[in-house]
Amino acid sequence: MDQRLIGAVEAGGTKFVLALAREDGTVLARGRIDSTSADATFPQMCAFFRQAGAAHGPIAAFGVGSFGPFDNDPASPGYGTITTTPKTGWPGANFLRALAEFGVPVVCDTDVNAAAIGEGLAGAGRGCGLFAYTTVGTGIGAGLVRGGVPLGGFGHYEAGHIPVARLPGDVFAGACRVHHDCVEGMASGTAIRARWGGELAGVDRIELIAHYLAQLAAVLLLTHMPERLIFGGGVMQVPGLIEALRRAAEARFAGYIHSPHLDPGLERYIVTPQLGNDAGITGAIELGRRGLA
Ligand code: ZN
Repeated sequence: MDQRLIGAVEAGGTKFVLALAREDGTVLARGRIDSTSADATFPQMCAFFRQAGAAHGPIAAFGVGSFGPFDNDPASPGYGTITTTPKTGWPGANFLRALAEFGVPVVCDTDVNAAAIGEGLAGAGRGCGLFAYTTVGTGIGAGLVRGGVPLGGFGHYEAGHIPVARLPGDVFAGACRVHHDCVEGMASGTAIRARWGGELAGVDRIELIAHYLAQLAAVLLLTHMPERLIFGGGVMQVPGLIEALRRAAEARFAGYIHSPHLDPGLERYIVTPQLGNDAGITGAIELGRRGLA
């Protein structure tokens, strides 16, 4: 069978990762451009796909995983639009319009859901009926995937903005521009830089961040009973953080839920991603695959 071609976009707040892939997932061309503004970045994105298409053949569908807030509801007139982001040059940017010249289906979701789909397909979520993928980077976001499909209501989840109980003595005001001391405001990469002016390091600071992330882990567990919690993103690469998170989460779960999924020590329950930086683009390729007629 001839392999149809998929254009995939992982649209992050600082860079776009682009790929042209065969239907079976083989990547034929890769690109990376800065996310400056929609007016500057979208034409570069289209130029990449025109060039890659000329070299390898016509593109049959696109998959997009985008930063947000993002309209990921296929039934919405604004489907594929970056909505209320504070990032200059991006509110109202729409991927369906941007890629309209190719005349093929464009399937969109959030960057978090795309990475979650990728981990479910080929990474740490394989074999799970329902799992959660959380990214702790500049912001915090979580996606829940059941049978390859991200859960959602009228919009994507905003688990990074749940309220959290402060660690006694923590007087940091919080870095979220809306809620101040939500979990993103207290424990994201942005919060870490605002707290300490640099990267996360040192046992006390790692345990403080783990204290907040454990509350998100508890909310995900208590509201969804996922079979696994994957924690990724740049902040989670700090040595010792995943172990501190497991300890803090186990203390917070406090033995309330009895399940073979919750192993003592949570080493099998709370895990890091397996695809590393490729989770997002792997998920975007899968989104495009779902757009193939
Ligand atoms: Zn918030």
